[in-house]
Amino acid sequence: MENCIFCKIIDKQIPSSIVYEDENMLCFKDINPAAPVHLLLIPKVHFDSLAHAQLEHETLLGKMMLKVPQIAAEAGLTNGFKTQINTGKGGGQEVFHLHIHIMGRPA
Ligand code: AMP
Ligand code: ZN
Repeated sequence: MENCIFCKIIDKQIPSSIVYEDENMLCFKDINPAAPVHLLLIPKVHFDSLAHAQLEHETLLGKMMLKVPQIAAEAGLTNGFKTQINTGKGGGQEVFHLHIHIMGRPA
């Protein structure tokens, strides 16, 4: 989507520190980390937030959730991690392309 910073990251128009990528999703380091490890996992298809997810995104969202622990383990978060999805302005969302925060401290 035009003018979406995360779509630009997907298209490599904006640099990012990518830790995982496949045909469905991209994971990169948060530019302003709130934890020693702070990653953002995003779908390659644009939708604004969890509140904008449709039935057609069901499989994609499932794949993303199942990928989270793999990415976390590869980032050294073998002792556990936090996930967060901010939804809407009232939920603290600032970038309106769905993303899952993955945060923690390596064991
Ligand atoms: P949220 O408040 O859930 O919308 O979170 C947006 C997150 O995106 C924040 O933690 C920002 O630090 C992060 N962010 C914004 N721009 C970039 C960027 N260009 N590269 C990496 N992370 C970014
Ligand atoms: Zn986007």
